[in-house]
Amino acid sequence: MTKVTVAKGDGIGPEIMDATLEIILAAGAKIEIEEIEVGEKVYLAGNTSGIAASSWETIIRNKVFLKAPITTPQGGGYKSLNVTTRKFLGLYSNVRPCMSLHPFVRTKHPVMDIVIVRENEEDLYAGIEHQQTDEVVQCLKLISRPGCEKIVRYAFEYAKQQNRKKVTCFTKDNIMKQTDGLFHKVFDEIAQEYPEIQNEHWIIDIGAAKMADTPEAFDVIVMPNLYGDVLSDVAAQITGSVGLAGSANIGESCSMFEAIHGSAPRIAGKNIANPSGLLQGAIMMLNHIGQIEVAEKVQNAWLKTLEDGIHTYDIYKEGTSKIKLGTKEFAQAVIANLGNKPQVLKPVSYAGNCALNLPIYKRKPAAKKDLVGVDIFVHWTGADPNELAQKIKTIETNNITLSMITNRGIKVWPEGFKETFCTDHWRCRFMPQDGASINKANIIELLKNALHQNIDTIKTENLYSFDNIPAYSLGQGQ
Ligand code: NAD
Repeated sequence: MTKVTVAKGDGIGPEIMDATLEIILAAGAKIEIEEIEVGEKVYLAGNTSGIAASSWETIIRNKVFLKAPITTPQGGGYKSLNVTTRKFLGLYSNVRPCMSLHPFVRTKHPVMDIVIVRENEEDLYAGIEHQQTDEVVQCLKLISRPGCEKIVRYAFEYAKQQNRKKVTCFTKDNIMKQTDGLFHKVFDEIAQEYPEIQNEHWIIDIGAAKMADTPEAFDVIVMPNLYGDVLSDVAAQITGSVGLAGSANIGESCSMFEAIHGSAPRIAGKNIANPSGLLQGAIMMLNHIGQIEVAEKVQNAWLKTLEDGIHTYDIYKEGTSKIKLGTKEFAQAVIANLGNKPQVLKPVSYAGNCALNLPIYKRKPAAKKDLVGVDIFVHWTGADPNELAQKIKTIETNNITLSMITNRGIKVWPEGFKETFCTDHWRCRFMPQDGASINKANIIELLKNALHQNIDTIKTENLYSFDNIPAYSLGQGQ
């Protein structure tokens, strides 16, 4: 018996959770349910994270969490419970299988069967944002080596366990050479450890286009958080419906399983929602806790039910469907099929499935880190970069001189283009010249000088080299 924390959520959540639990219990799931309340009611009672402290205790104690969708109330101040849960519990891996069920669910991609493995904790979802000038706001994109190693290794281990042939990596490292560059580099390193699995890298834009057009070209695709968020919805949708996909959020000790869709408030309480997405999440949970025979029985019964043309309204199509059923009745139809296998769709076999047991990340030895320059960002409302350069040069110190000014990343001084549109947010790069060096006291000196000159400095970014390799981007056009 495994203890599982269950949250029935909001909107259609309670209906689809009841249906899901009824099916898996009928199939023989050995789970003991401990229910907690999360979501709208908790938010509206004044808890901005949508979950009470005592519920965290339950989740952490039981380690396995099956969660129905929740409604995040409109308006500021409410934090996404999903994002908070993933980060608090260290659920670094988000796994979404997206498989088409042709000819029973209409899709343009009859042979699609891919799994998106999305990094779940970092990237732009660190949510560190600042307004710095009247015109410019920023969001920090944080990518870490442990984050990359954990998710890439997860993707390869998953592919190995599931007998999948290829792992593809999507990044935009032609533009983001440091952040996406690290993700790609780690992918290439870890791929070497799995010679039996093919590996490839695509630039995300063309990769996404290819995936939407020819998904059969892919197998497992691993990517950073934001791309994975967007593309896992695209992948689910093009199988025929987002209502059919579930996802697993896996961490080193805890895990959370859910449907990928939201709480669909407009159809709540009508007994028409499709419970399949949450059921898919529950099947992943059963595999994760080692109840693979139950998982297999439920998945085969579900496939057989869809194959029988028994569909909820969202996937019901004249011609391919036979009977349109409500949530409860659909659950009963799946229960009636327990023990049956699909005839046209491929029955699943989960032999060998279990929770992946990945090594705990071991920190690498520190590299030789040298300060080699500094970017000072300033708020300035003028238009001519030459004028700004004149002003900024007055703060130079100790042979540390202004080497470049960029605006939104593009070099505007020296030798900028008159045509470049400039905002009020300028990056001024200072580098030591003629064999001089730079230290933190010099940076403070530069800032002090700027203060005396009434220059509005917004922030600084230190420029480092690691093991003598410069570890910062050049200005575009530099
Ligand atoms: P949604 O996924 O709830 O609904 C999108 C569309 O899909 C709607 O037309 C809906 O009726 C339909 N749909 C969704 N699930 C269905 C199902 N099981 N069966 C049949 N039809 C289904 O997305 P939304 O409308 O953008 O968001 C509604 C609420 O859900 C918002 O408060 C949002 O914050 C929340 N949300 C929660 C989660 C989560 O808890 N994991 C995820 C996404 C959105």
